[in-house]
Amino acid sequence: MTNSDSNKPDSPSLEQWGSFANTTSIEAGSQLAERLLSAEHQGADALESKYPTLRPSGFNEYIGQERVKENLQIACSAAKRRAQPMDHVLLHGPPGLGKTSLAKIIAKELGVGLRTTSGPVIEKPGDLAAILTALEPFECLFIDEIHRLPRIVEEVLYPAMEDFSIDILIGQGPSARSVTIELKPFTLVGATTRSGLLTSPLRDRFGIVERLEYYSHQELEIIITRSAKIMNIHLLDGAAKELSQRSRGTPRIANRLLKRVRDYAEERADGILTPEVIHNALSLLAIDTRGLDTMDRMILTAIVEKFHGGPVGVDTIAAALGEDRGTLEEVYEPFLVQQGFLARTKRGREITELGLLHLGLSGIVSKQQKLFEK
Ligand code: ADP
Repeated sequence: MTNSDSNKPDSPSLEQWGSFANTTSIEAGSQLAERLLSAEHQGADALESKYPTLRPSGFNEYIGQERVKENLQIACSAAKRRAQPMDHVLLHGPPGLGKTSLAKIIAKELGVGLRTTSGPVIEKPGDLAAILTALEPFECLFIDEIHRLPRIVEEVLYPAMEDFSIDILIGQGPSARSVTIELKPFTLVGATTRSGLLTSPLRDRFGIVERLEYYSHQELEIIITRSAKIMNIHLLDGAAKELSQRSRGTPRIANRLLKRVRDYAEERADGILTPEVIHNALSLLAIDTRGLDTMDRMILTAIVEKFHGGPVGVDTIAAALGEDRGTLEEVYEPFLVQQGFLARTKRGREITELGLLHLGLSGIVSKQQKLFEK
């Protein structure tokens, strides 16, 4: 790093680095690390806080994602056998599919601690330096939403991941010089819902890159049955199956819906969870037979009614619905695409024949198109 770098508006300033540049502030650095690694960023939602065992605690409790699990198991046991830190891992996929859970399992499998933080929390290079210097040897550092790390922080991560060292700028003006600090070996586990937003230098530094897929109905049925036991909910035959089909292929949604249908059953159906009660509860929540919610249907309907079925740009859809573009791309679209209801083309988003069929518009739109073509 040169002096001129430090004059750029987004280069690390002396204050950002300063607390690591002398021994008197080591304590300040570790306090900063504790704050950045605080419980707030542990990725637990309310349900997981109430029922901590909902989160699978080992590979044996982690249902599905078989290929990913096997690759990680191999990497964990190879690292343990060689007594070396495991390669850095990048987990990507839509929210709620089990990235945080896997990070915890990896650390447990390696027999090391897990420190958890998230991209937006680490604002300055000094924040990251505080976290990295506070790690114990071989510990895992989990950075959720790693695509939201500021660029200037990301650049500090490169040598940390590659050589377990960071370069710190000391002094000001012409006397400024760069000092290298050696770190203890560690494993970084990064999670992202938007792998496309990661820069390639960052992506390239992960030895293991795994994409999590939506879960099958059968896998979700097993997860729901397990969660019901933990939450002390009695499901009648066929109830877990009904719920699994309407959970958007996502364990977190399955668990949340399980709680909602229990409330419904207690208030409206003597607490007995039959497939029919689940059907009625989910209809009341406006979740349809394929697991689509109101927003999913609004997206598809808007494409048909306002944009003649597409293609239409994602920004235009976002503006029409008053929804954030990132949320559309990250949360809604992947499932609609996976279900075959929506196509992402170079010219924009288009509704598919399956999508029209699901909305009950297939025949109507085809007839209109024919009239238009005449
Ligand atoms: P992400 O980090 O991808 O958003 P999490 O790891 O926080 O997802 O998962 C959310 C919840 O879903 C977990 O607390 C757990 O209860 C459940 N879950 C996720 N994946 C699995 C799985 N493979 N098997 C069982 N439960 C799972």
